[in-house]
Amino acid sequence: MDFDYTPEQVDLRKTVREFAQAEIAPQVMEWDEAQTFPLEVIRKIGELGYMGTIFPEELGGAGLGYIDYSIVIEELARVEPSVGLIVAAHTSLAANHIYSMGSEEQRRRYLPRLARGEWIGCWSLTEPEAGSDAAGTRSTALRQGDSWILNGSKTFTTNAHYADVCVAMAVTDRGAAQHGISAFIIDKDTPGFRLGRKENKLGMRASATGEVIFENCRLAGSQLLGRQGEGFVDSLKVLDGGRISIAALAVGTAQGAYDEALKYSKQRKQFGRFISEFQAIQFKLADMAAGIEAARLLTYRAGWMKDRDQRVTKEAAIAKLFASEVAVRVAGEAVQILGGYGFIKDYRVEKFYRDVKLCTIGEGTSEIQRLVIARQLLK
Ligand SMILES: Cc1cc2nc3c(=O)[nH]c(=O)nc-3n(C[C@H](O)[C@H](O)[C@H](O)COP(=O)(O)OP(=O)(O)OC[C@H]3O[C@@H](n4cnc5c(N)ncnc54)[C@H](O)[C@@H]3O)c2cc1C
Repeated sequence: MDFDYTPEQVDLRKTVREFAQAEIAPQVMEWDEAQTFPLEVIRKIGELGYMGTIFPEELGGAGLGYIDYSIVIEELARVEPSVGLIVAAHTSLAANHIYSMGSEEQRRRYLPRLARGEWIGCWSLTEPEAGSDAAGTRSTALRQGDSWILNGSKTFTTNAHYADVCVAMAVTDRGAAQHGISAFIIDKDTPGFRLGRKENKLGMRASATGEVIFENCRLAGSQLLGRQGEGFVDSLKVLDGGRISIAALAVGTAQGAYDEALKYSKQRKQFGRFISEFQAIQFKLADMAAGIEAARLLTYRAGWMKDRDQRVTKEAAIAKLFASEVAVRVAGEAVQILGGYGFIKDYRVEKFYRDVKLCTIGEGTSEIQRLVIARQLLK
């Protein structure tokens, strides 16, 4: 066991933190109010190499591992969780599905531009009638000669309206249940591919969440991703990695809220004393710090295993469940520590409180994480 960061990881955290402070922090509330997708900042993150942290350098990535990737997501989320979510969905879901299941040709065609942030990726599994029960996918892909014809729609796709490339799951054999769903790569200008509604959200408002629609969308046979019929099973593997990034997103968001609350508690005076001198506030800070530390360790443990190609279904679900639940509590306590000011938009905790809830929902709700964990425990 080694709990030390490498010198490179210390530098990485510092670099991303400084970047986030300089390039993201000044615009956070403006983006939130207007639901502005921070495209320019995303391009810059790409130039720094962090739109492809986990991919090999020969494919345009940074050639780093999941702990490094978690550090990147944490530091972005600590300032603006939406940016952490944009990078996480792009990297762990869209790009990683192509990297993990794609042919050599698909990897060479898509990965370098995705990893450099020149292209943005989105990943569409969820449908209006198929959320937690994603195997209930209704979108279809019919073989016609050498092509596939996609019909249907997807909901709640992160990055949809800014994506150059979409990875989507559709039924190719209704009778084969979970082995009848396949994954496809769709370029945004493919005829029959269009975007629908962009959601107006509680939090994560600078990330775009929207509908993706297929209307007789014709794809070349080469756009099938992975083996025919294995798209759903592959998606579950992709989600194992994705959940590490949502855990990191939760840790970073919680850290941002905690930092604000700690600072405020040492500045605010009531009854002639700093509120940090009250044991009630100290206990809140202690519980918040303990939760964040534990969540971070669980996240890094899952990342460490993933870097060693170990199966992380249980560990990633545990990290995601614990970190997201802790983060929701931490953000709530941060608002409480700021009192009335915590409810006001001039202080960042109000936004963390709204943003953080997504972590208990996206990439599988807390209830679904418990199902995943229990299934692993009982098998
Ligand atoms: C901001 C945002 C971004 C997202 N980004 C993406 C994305 O990029 N790509 C994508 O494919 N999806 C995305 N999603 C979708 C997300 O993964 C789903 O919302 C989530 O999986 C839950 O599905 P649902 O919303 O249909 O809820 P439902 O599945 O309808 O669940 C409703 C409630 O029932 C509970 N429930 C359901 N089944 C069970 C069960 N068996 N046992 C116990 N409780 C259960 C759930 O936990 C929840 O509390 C995003 C969602 C949001 C809000």
